[in-house]
This record gives sequence, structure tokens and C-alpha cells, in this order.
Amino acid sequence: MNENNQVEFSSIEVAKKTKFLNGVGRFFAFCIGGFGILTGVLLCITVIGIIPGFIVVVGSLGCLALAMGKQKVRCPHCKKQTIVFQNVEEFHCVRCKNTTIITWK
Ligand SMILES: [Zn+2]
Repeated sequence: MNENNQVEFSSIEVAKKTKFLNGVGRFFAFCIGGFGILTGVLLCITVIGIIPGFIVVVGSLGCLALAMGKQKVRCPHCKKQTIVFQNVEEFHCVRCKNTTIITWK
């Protein structure tokens, strides 16, 4: 049995990169993304517009991801860069499987 249930995680401090997308910019990106998905779905319903509709939906999803705020962080164990949401409290490294706690500044 493993009695060591108090696992120690390392933590890193990361400065949020919201220079070009904060407040109003983020709100607009959200609106464009939401409107784009709606337009894309409507295009898909018309059957003729399936291909452009699909492209619009994919583009809008990217816009929404940007609006939600994704950022690169570096794993302190193996130095691998990972993209995480700016609201997460920790991330699991895909390379070394370590858990790192993120402290946002
Ligand atoms: Zn790692």
C-alpha cells in the first residue's frame, strides 16, 4: 500500500498575457466567435453551405479559444512548453507526467 498520500507538487509563477485581449477586446472576440458559430450552423443547414459553414465554425471556435485566454507555460521539470487556459490552477505535463501548480500574477 502507498501511504505517501501527501504528494509534493512544484509550482511556477506566470504573468498573464492579456495585452491585446483584455476587457473589451475579449468581449468582442467572444461575440464574433458566438455569431460565427451561429452563422456557420445556419450555412450547414442549407446543405449547399456545408463546406463554408464548417470553415466558419472552426474559425469561430478558434476565436472563442482566444477570447477565453490561452497561454503558454513552461514545465519546470523538463522545460516543455504547454498551452493552458489562464483560469487553470494546475497543469499536467504531457512529457514528464508531472503536475505543476500555476500561480497567476
Ligand atoms: Zn514536464
